[in-house]
Amino acid sequence: MSIQENYNDIKRRLPENVELVAVSKTHPTSTIQEVYDLGQKVFGENKVQELVEKYPLLPKDIQWHIIGHLQTNKVKYIAEFVDTIQSVDSEKLLKEINKEAGKYNRTIKVLLQVKIAEEDTKFGLEIEEAKPLFEKFVNGEFENIAITGLMGMATFTEDENQIKKEFSVLKNLFDELSQIKKLETLSMGMSDDFPIAIECGANSVRVGSAIFGRRDYSK
Ligand SMILES: *Cc1c(COP(=O)(O)O)cnc(C)c1O
Repeated sequence: MSIQENYNDIKRRLPENVELVAVSKTHPTSTIQEVYDLGQKVFGENKVQELVEKYPLLPKDIQWHIIGHLQTNKVKYIAEFVDTIQSVDSEKLLKEINKEAGKYNRTIKVLLQVKIAEEDTKFGLEIEEAKPLFEKFVNGEFENIAITGLMGMATFTEDENQIKKEFSVLKNLFDELSQIKKLETLSMGMSDDFPIAIECGANSVRVGSAIFGRRDYSK
């Protein structure tokens, strides 16, 4: 299928209330422009360097999301324009984003990335760490940040029950924190598991290969 067919197919499968973050990492700006021209405004990248190279070449009304592990010393390169940082996994990073956003007088949206997978390779906060961090935000500690939701990745497995179990853990935390202050975004699900994620309550999905095709890391 062409990119256009892929994109329309994914859009058709998403309920209206579910946001699509088109994950464009490794793909050239010409391809991103093609998907933009189909109406897509929200794109996700996982590397600062790559995003910084692509940003000036693409329309300014794209909302860029960082979805990959972010080192504190790289925040300064994206603070002026990034819309949302989905992969906040430490207080140190939160403080740095707050500081850099302040320099531009802006509010950067962030999601707390929570570790829900069994695999220990995945980055993320433990559940017990996410709650006090969110409380600090609610108490006014990070004035140039808005924690608007949670992000999580399930274990890479064929076992649907396990994926469901992991997504449900995050949905429960989302509901719990929403009682302290209402959260907007629950980001779960990628090309292979987004239907399960939506079933479990996701209202934002991060889809790459199902739109753009396989990534070629050899280039
Ligand atoms: C690459 C990536 C995705 C998209 O993965 P696909 O399987 O290509 O849809 C989603 N989330 C994160 C954090 C990623 O790094």
